[in-house]
Amino acid sequence: MYCKDFLDFEEIMFVCNYKKLERIKSNLQFFFPLSDKILCLICENLQLCNVQAIYEHINSEKHIIKFNMLHENEEHLELLKQLVKIQPAYTKCFACDIHTFQSRKTNIDFKNHINTSSHKNNCNQLRNQIELILKEFQNLWYSIQYFACVDCNKKFRIKIKFMEHLNDKHKEIIRNETNSKFDFCLTCATLWYKTSDIKDIHINYEQHCQLQMHQYLKKSNDFAITPLPQTLQKLLRNVNEISANLFQLSKKVLNDPKVTQLTDALKHIVGTCQLPVEVFMFGSRVTGLALTNSDIDIYLNFGDECIEPQSIKRRSKQIQDCLHTDHENWDIELTLDRSRTPIIKVKHRSTGLQCDISFTKGLSVENSKLIRAFNTAYPPCQKLTLFLKKWLSLAGLSGPDGITNYALVWLVIFYLQVKLKIPSIVDLIKSHNQSKIISGWETGVSDTILINVSQQPIHELLLGFFEYYGGFDYMHLIVCPLLGETCQKKAFAEVSILPNSMALYIAQLRGDNPEYFRIDSPMCVQDPYDLSHNLTKAVSILMLKRFKHYCNESLLVLRSVIAKS
Ligand SMILES: [Zn+2]
Ligand SMILES: [Zn+2]
Ligand SMILES: [Zn+2]
Ligand SMILES: [Zn+2]
Repeated sequence: MYCKDFLDFEEIMFVCNYKKLERIKSNLQFFFPLSDKILCLICENLQLCNVQAIYEHINSEKHIIKFNMLHENEEHLELLKQLVKIQPAYTKCFACDIHTFQSRKTNIDFKNHINTSSHKNNCNQLRNQIELILKEFQNLWYSIQYFACVDCNKKFRIKIKFMEHLNDKHKEIIRNETNSKFDFCLTCATLWYKTSDIKDIHINYEQHCQLQMHQYLKKSNDFAITPLPQTLQKLLRNVNEISANLFQLSKKVLNDPKVTQLTDALKHIVGTCQLPVEVFMFGSRVTGLALTNSDIDIYLNFGDECIEPQSIKRRSKQIQDCLHTDHENWDIELTLDRSRTPIIKVKHRSTGLQCDISFTKGLSVENSKLIRAFNTAYPPCQKLTLFLKKWLSLAGLSGPDGITNYALVWLVIFYLQVKLKIPSIVDLIKSHNQSKIISGWETGVSDTILINVSQQPIHELLLGFFEYYGGFDYMHLIVCPLLGETCQKKAFAEVSILPNSMALYIAQLRGDNPEYFRIDSPMCVQDPYDLSHNLTKAVSILMLKRFKHYCNESLLVLRSVIAKS
């Protein structure tokens, strides 16, 4: 379990060391944003496109030499702080984009110029942009994927392992609450611990830059945040049209006769084999979020809990044997007996549809009913999710190591809970008054819920979504649809301060197989029923950073599209 001491120490560890930050600050005042690039005015003509490159540059020997030389000439230094550069041939104000040639004696007095209000305005605007770059250094939490202990020559892919190592072997640093022995490389997305006597702080980093791994990553630029893809920009320029099309399509898919054909065939074959089951469909085909090629999720309810690995295996075999009796029609493609949800993947030949059969835990059926209830009661919820599903996939943010469609649904519903005050799951269970426990978790929401909120246009909701998740504090907060409001990660480390509505979560922690909610994952979205389940536990920090970044970028694009129309 991720303990409170670790959370507290993250606040220290991920803050850039004070001395280092001061050095970055003193360098950044000589940087000049140039469309999507950044120019180092000390070295000039050198274009850098991201924070990684800037950090690497200000630590390079060439730059350091010129930086030190600049400080020997008081006059040049003061002018360059004002973005005015004196060269042998000419003098230029970068903020105002004006220059004079020394030979021609056209006399702009740059010492007066820097006091004019127009120059000051220009400078301030540019400084705001530079300020954003500085922010990335102030909080490294979003930029670090890997960890290392140089002293012990150990690398860590998982934060909790690194914290445990520090706690075991270097306990004094956690006790002393200091970050002076940490260094980082944004290019490698790595933070490391190293005791060192070297006073000059950039030397450690320079040594790091010689490493092969660093050189490789510098070329590949794997961890850099890329600009918003063209396909996404196009998508955002046609929100209303695309969203209407997706909505129509999803309605058509919901009434697809082929799906009925498949479920009928399945009911028939389990009947023939005399399997004691009820056949349920769940997932996107039920919630209204499916598109033409979506899989069909089937749950075979045997009416009991099937948890033991042996009985899971036996049951899986039983179902496969049954399907084999009609192998003309059912093609078993893959069986996953040991995953969180064991699954049999089959293809139904006559309809050509793909089908995932699960047979443990009934919670997924309840989840689907819940989502369908929200989508029916408030169709903009469905429209928003359908559009964002497309947005996620074009952004390269979907898939197993990204944000799953299921997690997206809850991000959307949660946003509507916070923004429009649509009901929380706690309230829905309470008002229906038919609470029932399934697989240890409380369910019991009516199939038809009432949402008394005016239907907002899709682009408004989309703007709000991007703004909310673009500014969300992922370092400290958990998205919690059960409550309809955020919950502190800290509360999950201390447990005793969790709200009463999480009593079942606390109770299972005291049981034989406690399952802790994964607060050590960068992104935390709690399942509305299975309160131990972090729906986004597989999302890496850099995936999260990209999600946040794209939300903010999409917000800007969408705003300008709306302003123009
Ligand atoms: Zn430079
Ligand atoms: Zn100027
Ligand atoms: Zn160590
Ligand atoms: Zn590196």
